[in-house]
Amino acid sequence: DLNAAWADRWLRECARVLAMHREELIELDRAIGDGDHGENMDRGFQAVVEKLGDGPSESVAAALKVAAMMLMSKVGGAAGPLYGTAFLRASAAVGERDTLDGPAVEAMLAAARDGIVARGKADLGDKTMVDAWSPAVVAAGHAADGEAAFAAAAAAAEAGALATMPLVARKGRASYLGERSAGHLDPGAVSTSYILRAAVTAAV
Ligand code: ADP
Ligand code: MG
Ligand code: MG
Repeated sequence: DLNAAWADRWLRECARVLAMHREELIELDRAIGDGDHGENMDRGFQAVVEKLGDGPSESVAAALKVAAMMLMSKVGGAAGPLYGTAFLRASAAVGERDTLDGPAVEAMLAAARDGIVARGKADLGDKTMVDAWSPAVVAAGHAADGEAAFAAAAAAAEAGALATMPLVARKGRASYLGERSAGHLDPGAVSTSYILRAAVTAAV
């Protein structure tokens, strides 16, 4: 079930996977940004895990809110406020639910994506994390249960992240490079795909 214990496992899995991919995300951001994305995400999710402590979270919403607060205060740069807003909106969308079914996962991912768009003003195809989040929302909408919704969302986010390769960045630091941003993956879209995949790993 996608319950509070799952939410705790998800956030811990995010920390594990982002630490594992720290150098890769640094390299991606070095190519079209300032090279700090891997460090930012690793630091942020280590802080989330510290804040979660040993005890189980009271609810899915409570766990996601801890993540939002820590990401906002510890990640910095563009990604900190964007991911912080995403997790805060996700927490609000989950509300009092004990477990998440398919429609709840879709609503949660849509709220997260809408928060990122409200904050960053990126359109689909601007070579940002929105290019992973938006297809994830669409894919989640076709699933039967919560686990299937996240599985579909993660696969769509991975495809969306890979599809940023040829794009020219129109938002964020990478947009300063203009046409030279093409031919590289967007680091934030790749980290989004890791975060959504971690939710699937945590569900089994
Ligand atoms: P910074 O660019 O401040 O160093 P990070 O390197 O941590 O921050 O994060 C960069 C990522 O943030 C990009 O790869 C992109 O996915 C995302 N990003 C930047 N600006 C925006 C935006 N306006 N809307 C959505 N995502 C954005
Ligand atoms: Mg950066
Ligand atoms: Mg930076």
